[in-house]
Amino acid sequence: MKIDLHVHLDGSLRPKTVWELAAEQGVRLPVSSEEELARCMRVSESCNNLTEYLQCFDIPLLVLQKPEAMERVVYELCEDLAEQGLAYAEIRFAPQLSLRGGMSMDEVVEAAIRGMNRGLAAYPSLCAGLLLCFMRGKDTDPFNEATLKSAVKYFGRGVLGVDLAGAEALFPTERYRDLFYKVREAGIKFTIHAGEAAGPESVKYALEFGAVRLGHGVRAVEDEALIERLVHEKITLEVCPTSNLHTKLAKDPYSHPIRTLFDRGVRVTVNTDNMTVSHTTLEKEYHFLKQYYNFTDSEIAKMQEYAREAAFFED
Ligand SMILES: [Zn+2]
Repeated sequence: MKIDLHVHLDGSLRPKTVWELAAEQGVRLPVSSEEELARCMRVSESCNNLTEYLQCFDIPLLVLQKPEAMERVVYELCEDLAEQGLAYAEIRFAPQLSLRGGMSMDEVVEAAIRGMNRGLAAYPSLCAGLLLCFMRGKDTDPFNEATLKSAVKYFGRGVLGVDLAGAEALFPTERYRDLFYKVREAGIKFTIHAGEAAGPESVKYALEFGAVRLGHGVRAVEDEALIERLVHEKITLEVCPTSNLHTKLAKDPYSHPIRTLFDRGVRVTVNTDNMTVSHTTLEKEYHFLKQYYNFTDSEIAKMQEYAREAAFFED
């Protein structure tokens, strides 16, 4: 059963759609053709780190400021996932990045839910839900609070939980202790990007906050005791191998820690992160694991089982 627990909406848009939306909305893009746009929406080979990787999201966000656009792109992502044969996906995005056109946080979320509901009606083989991302940043605290309010309001009605995304090396996980205290108080499920651009200490804070799932989490491999803790506490890692290569978390295809973590008994799952930015699909990620790490079909099935067990969907 193909499951993606970690796919970002704004990193998985169709370039053609972004081109069309820009024309419709009269948004001037810093590119002169659809082909050039497609190139700009993909990470370049010279990308050095997560901060540079995140620049690939600037253009897509220009056209995600209107409700019709949000609805359309969520619908299309459901369509793409269903056509790739996925049974289940958790689609994440940060509603606070779509407020520039005058939408309220709730309006952004409602538009996304409408798009998803249309997608699920058109493709009944797919089950999906939304994760609302908080953003790491200098001035994001009030927006994160508002995101939590929206998550509470729409929890169980399309929204499955929350996440913390953004520049982990610049804004450490530790800063978000109070926020996740409130998330726990509200009874909302959550995952946290941790152990990607920062090391084991970031993972430890996420665990202290009560996370049972971690976005990436792979740098836990640097700390022997932490690996044992992940196994013991049955923490699920949402690993995205191709994206990790792009952000230089892994220097080359042979130096990704996924094999080590899996063999040690960590509940490792495989995900895409950003299908457009990292030009990948779940199928390509499986292929990568087979090619470079000799994962067998039954080992991949084991990871899919871990993913199913860690899904935020109740049913
Ligand atoms: Zn991510």
